[in-house]
Amino acid sequence: MADERRILTRDQHSISRRQISDNALKVLYRLNKSGYDAYLVGGGVRDLLLGKQPKDFDIVTDATPEQIKRLFSNCRLVGRRFRLAHVVFGRDVIEVATFRGHHHKVNTSKHISSQSDEGMLLRDNVYGTIEEDAERRDFTVNALYYSIKDFSLHDFHGGLDDLDAGTLELIGDPETRYREDPVRMLRAIRFAAKLDLNISERSAAPIRELAPLLQDIPPARLFEETLKLFQAGHALKTYHLLREYGLFAPLFPQVATLLTKENNSPFERFLEQALTNTDDRVAADLPVTPAFFYAALLWGVVEKRSRDFANESTLPPQDTLLLAMNEAIDQQIKTIAIPRRFTSDVREIWLLQDRLPRRSGKRAERLFAHPRFRAAFDFLELRGRIDGRLKELIQWWAEYQQANAGQRDELASHSPAVAHGSPADDEPSERAKPRRRRRRSPRRPKEGAA
Ligand code: ATP
Ligand code: MG
Repeated sequence: MADERRILTRDQHSISRRQISDNALKVLYRLNKSGYDAYLVGGGVRDLLLGKQPKDFDIVTDATPEQIKRLFSNCRLVGRRFRLAHVVFGRDVIEVATFRGHHHKVNTSKHISSQSDEGMLLRDNVYGTIEEDAERRDFTVNALYYSIKDFSLHDFHGGLDDLDAGTLELIGDPETRYREDPVRMLRAIRFAAKLDLNISERSAAPIRELAPLLQDIPPARLFEETLKLFQAGHALKTYHLLREYGLFAPLFPQVATLLTKENNSPFERFLEQALTNTDDRVAADLPVTPAFFYAALLWGVVEKRSRDFANESTLPPQDTLLLAMNEAIDQQIKTIAIPRRFTSDVREIWLLQDRLPRRSGKRAERLFAHPRFRAAFDFLELRGRIDGRLKELIQWWAEYQQANAGQRDELASHSPAVAHGSPADDEPSERAKPRRRRRRSPRRPKEGAA
């Protein structure tokens, strides 16, 4: 029951071949010359129409993955859930998909198509026509096709009108579409934030109730999605939208327990600073790393749990910090599979927060040479914007970085042993050996457990 197809000829729309990457054009032309239909589709078309530079160019064709592979020597087939062809030009990878069809037509083989009890699509390799392909896409603005044959633009679900109106609208029945793939709820937030579109009322309505379905999504896929959500230059807006739509808690359950209705706790203000900082860096074309994001995101949890452990035990602060760090990461990776190379950086950024206050003797020099020093200092600066007590420490390290070797020795010899705001004392020898645990007195009052 696809809507009427609307076709704009070459002179009726603004997309020109000059805006499309050479590699994408190469693939489109080769497919076309070999007798296949070939279209640019998805974000590439949508972003060009909005006057933005697309992140990548997705291609769709009536050739099967095997037929595509035969056309390109630099092609590999990937994906189980969605079988796709990747045509590889050095670091540039052009994704080529085959038109998707409907499930009910061929559902005899589990290898071709399968659905979970909750209505989620597990396999999705039924091929079909362009009309069917359009109907299977998520949003109307993502179902616009640019034909390489005659440079016409094909709109199957009113995506052009929605782009004009600034509306993000799901194709089909929203609840069914979110149940099929709950990640579409995150994609709605991502496109709303990135493209400044309003999620239509009917597409927004079921999200709050269906948000818990994100729990069924594989953690590795959610890690990829959070990168797109938070590293694309619109992290702050994305964060607000996720909270508004009840999607934050299923992604970051521990962090959600710290959020307040008023949204003005010190941690919330810190997190907003961190997200703003990330957005500024993206805007300035500076590198951003998921390690910094996760370090900031989970920092409130680590601080709170570290205090809890201190209140419940006689462990030294360094040990309660370690316990809190491990717990925060272990809990988070149950929902989002943060790769180990990033969690190890996250840990270092946190551990350095504990070490930066201790600068005397050779310590400052060693800290300064640490590969994560810069990230840890940036993190400290962010904390300082909320916590005025860190001012002296930040100032000191700022001067240290500017100073020459002689001045550095001088600074180090005058540094206070411990600065305010540090959870640690100045006894490095204590770090490695956990004290023998005293039996807890039953009468000991529990302080600061709130
Ligand atoms: P961008 O690449 O800028 O993040 P995009 O819209 O191109 O945005 P991709 O993930 O590259 O997003 O997907 C390409 C296209 O594939 C989409 O525009 C959409 O038509 C379709 N698509 C992707 N993911 C889904 C999904 N989960 N459900 C339905 N259609 C999808
Ligand atoms: Mg894309």
